[in-house]
Amino acid sequence: MEKRQLRVAHLYGNLLNTYGDNGNLLVLNYLAKKMDVAFDISIVSIYEPFQAEDYDFVFFGGGQDYEQKIVSADLKSKRDELIKYIENDGVLLAICGGYQLLGHYYETADGDKISGIGALDHYTIRQDNNRFIGDVKIFNESFNETYVGFENHNGRTFLGENEQPLGTVLEGNGNNGEDQGEGVIYRNVYGSYFHGPILARNVNLAHRLLKLALDKKYGNS
Ligand code: GLN
Repeated sequence: MEKRQLRVAHLYGNLLNTYGDNGNLLVLNYLAKKMDVAFDISIVSIYEPFQAEDYDFVFFGGGQDYEQKIVSADLKSKRDELIKYIENDGVLLAICGGYQLLGHYYETADGDKISGIGALDHYTIRQDNNRFIGDVKIFNESFNETYVGFENHNGRTFLGENEQPLGTVLEGNGNNGEDQGEGVIYRNVYGSYFHGPILARNVNLAHRLLKLALDKKYGNS
């Protein structure tokens, strides 16, 4: 049998990589290697095309407001292909700034409204003189799994009707400090405010994402 391979796009990996979010890809690479799966990562950054059919996994990390503005301008050119990827059940993990930009818009801490691509139905507003910083713990009832992480964001995200939170907040603030939701699940898109990185601290989630990507490409294993 030919060796299995996952082709991975790290969106704006040279601009958005706060708090070691690229550690998520290191974890997936480690687990994939143990399963004898090639995990081939390409950074897809500004001015570079993204084609939905070229990838089996997409990672979109977090960043500061300044970098998010640069990314937001370029993201318009990748919008249609990203939506195609997502609607075709492509597997995608988005953290913090990346998660915000998949939604309709993100208001920066100083009040600028940055467009997202509206691939997912959430939006993010600012809060005055405050950031949500600290440890977070959530529970996902359908998977019966607990996830832990560290959040650091000004934005407060509100999900749309067709989105589910990644989990219910047990400790910390989560999406908005109000509705007890943290992160998002939409089709095979997983979004979260968790740094840490999330997959290094929650290997159950890392296995879940890897399995989703492999099953999608090679059928149920
Ligand atoms: N700049 C965004 C915010 O403060 C995202 C931060 C991040 O990615 N850590 O909400």
